[in-house]
Amino acid sequence: MNRAPLSLAARKLPAAASTQLTHPIQLSVTRASLISAVQLTKSYRRGKCAVPVLKGIDLDIELGKCTAIVGKSGSGKSTLLHLLGTLDAPDSGEIWFQNERLDQWSVRRKDEFRNKLVGMIFQFYHLLPELTALENVLVPRMIGHGVMGYWRHRAEYTRRATELLELVGLGHRMLHKPNQMSGGEMQRTAIARALIAEPALLLADEPTGNLDSESGREVIETLLKLKQQRQLTIVMVTHDENVAAIADRVIALVDGQIEVRRQ
Ligand code: ADP
Ligand code: MG
Repeated sequence: MNRAPLSLAARKLPAAASTQLTHPIQLSVTRASLISAVQLTKSYRRGKCAVPVLKGIDLDIELGKCTAIVGKSGSGKSTLLHLLGTLDAPDSGEIWFQNERLDQWSVRRKDEFRNKLVGMIFQFYHLLPELTALENVLVPRMIGHGVMGYWRHRAEYTRRATELLELVGLGHRMLHKPNQMSGGEMQRTAIARALIAEPALLLADEPTGNLDSESGREVIETLLKLKQQRQLTIVMVTHDENVAAIADRVIALVDGQIEVRRQ
């Protein structure tokens, strides 16, 4: 079947925001939610038993909003994030990307979704130690476009990566390697890397979990700035009440189900 390339809704944006919107993506959307889950379940096998982790999750992630997911360690927060990002598949239930059943897409289309529309950041940054900040930000481009494609467009990609590093406040750290940067700087490099493909959705798993409160605050301020400037939709797992406080909406995972803490 010949399908339209994945793209993001051509929704009405405030004028200030639309000039900032650089998604290469033009698409049609009629829903206010970017991604939704309907009665998602997920269990893991432990020996002969299946241990249920998610027991029927209903969730609507609104376009352009920041949703924080809180809950005890082991409550399934990372599992839920992985399902939304198609890193793992649910046992049952539905995941919708706007008007399409994301969970039913082919492996190839899910790959395209992850590569083009989703950026991810993790607690431990996962930067490559031998590469500079600039090179780390370029890695997804190197992988996604092959050697020839990358070399053909390298000037444009480098300009874009430079802009992103400046945007996250690291204009003075471009040529530093991870061991020459603080934790907060490494996480902001990881944010720039997550955004190089101009994703619509940023999934962040405990992005401040390894940082002191000052660095954590800088990372969160960076995420907020990006959300506003780029109409980024953020889903962020956090243990930290102060981090959850800046979200538009806070939900908790309790005993495999969603409890809305703040709408
Ligand atoms: P959280 O992020 O809230 O700490 P997780 O989603 O990582 O929780 O894990 C939820 C539960 O699922 C935990 O009990 C964990 O041990 C279990 N779990 C997570 N991933 C796997 C896996 N790949 N195989 C088996 N059990 C897993
Ligand atoms: Mg986790």
